[in-house]
Amino acid sequence: MAPLISEFRSTITQNEKLFQRIKTVYQATKKTPLEADKQRVVDLVYKSFEMNGAELSPENKEQYAAIAKELSSLYTDFSNNVLHDEENYITYLSDQQLGGLPEGFVKSAAAIAQANGHEGEYAITNTRSSIDPFLTYSTERELRKQVWTNFYSRGDNGDEFDNNKLIAEILRLRREKVELLGYSNYAEWRLQDRMAKTPENAINLMEAVWPAALARVAEEVADMQALAGNEITIEPWDYRFYAELVRKDKYDLDSDEVKQYLQLDKLTEAMQYVAGRLFDFEFTPVTDGSVPVFHEDVKVWEVTNKNTRENVGLWYLDPYARSGKRSGAWATTYRSHTTFDGKKNVLASNNSNFVKPAEGEALLVSWDDATTFFHEFGHALHFFSSNVKYPTLNSGWWRDYTEFQSQLLERWLATDEVISNFLVHNEDGRPHAG
Ligand SMILES: [Zn+2]
Repeated sequence: MAPLISEFRSTITQNEKLFQRIKTVYQATKKTPLEADKQRVVDLVYKSFEMNGAELSPENKEQYAAIAKELSSLYTDFSNNVLHDEENYITYLSDQQLGGLPEGFVKSAAAIAQANGHEGEYAITNTRSSIDPFLTYSTERELRKQVWTNFYSRGDNGDEFDNNKLIAEILRLRREKVELLGYSNYAEWRLQDRMAKTPENAINLMEAVWPAALARVAEEVADMQALAGNEITIEPWDYRFYAELVRKDKYDLDSDEVKQYLQLDKLTEAMQYVAGRLFDFEFTPVTDGSVPVFHEDVKVWEVTNKNTRENVGLWYLDPYARSGKRSGAWATTYRSHTTFDGKKNVLASNNSNFVKPAEGEALLVSWDDATTFFHEFGHALHFFSSNVKYPTLNSGWWRDYTEFQSQLLERWLATDEVISNFLVHNEDGRPHAG
């Protein structure tokens, strides 16, 4: 569908009559500004037409639309190749290859192997939630190398699913596209309405951070090497394994012990508690089937304002990895708030790729995954907190600024309120002493 949607978009941004009307309104507001929110809508709409070629000559418009269409296909091919390599590089382990792996992980690996027709084996799928624990705990160095290589070679295997040529083609077309608009490179075009504003600002920030980050990596690897001794040289597939040993050795911290306090269901409750505390949102599970879902694993809550009892929207949670699902974690809206054409409530969704636990087992996640879970929920809260008349203003923030509130929400995971009430041991239900 991507090329068709791209073509459809181009017919709108390149509609000469429509753009002349927008331009007339825009120029009139330069003399007589509108109320702040209306003005913002006018500025955003005008800018997006201009950025997408509304002012080009007819033949440049045609070329612009052709490039946009081709790019949309290439982006889709790129993602499909990554997904292909995630789904087709599963590492199966035998009973003899489970050294160091936590029991819960082994159980879910067995369940996935069975579901894939590999009864009696254990599946390490090529996704972050599966490779992370494996690389952290497995004592099988050769297998760590294989699992690491599979993951970091997604789209880079020299076969028909290889992305290298696509990347070169995407970069070439992006440049060609923005040169039509008079920009000297794609970064200049892309960053003009992002917080960095210019490529120079972005590079300056990165170069300020880079040497410090590299120096810290060198320190960490030196600690790992000291524990590993002279037998091996620490390689990328050893990082997580030895980082865990360093944590135990230096700080007496055991990630698997921490994990015992991080149950996905409890974390979900904790997030909803925080949302109530900060934004007066109340979450009520919808279990009567009145809200259709696209997969049986998807859970739904009704979100209400505690004080006014007003319906704010629905929150969908799709927690588990499954075949065909994009990897990683993200938040999205199926519908955003607006009052323009009658008040619409928000349909927001959080999506992650946790490995589904074996029947009857609690889903325990790492501290990093718990942080990400809170982070993505921060985006959902942003959607639920929207209070705009014009739908355009829901996406009218600086695209990257939206990470700010999410990063603030992450901090709530480590608060006493959350730790004492929700981070309880999965077996005895108690918070950690001390
Ligand atoms: Zn984010």
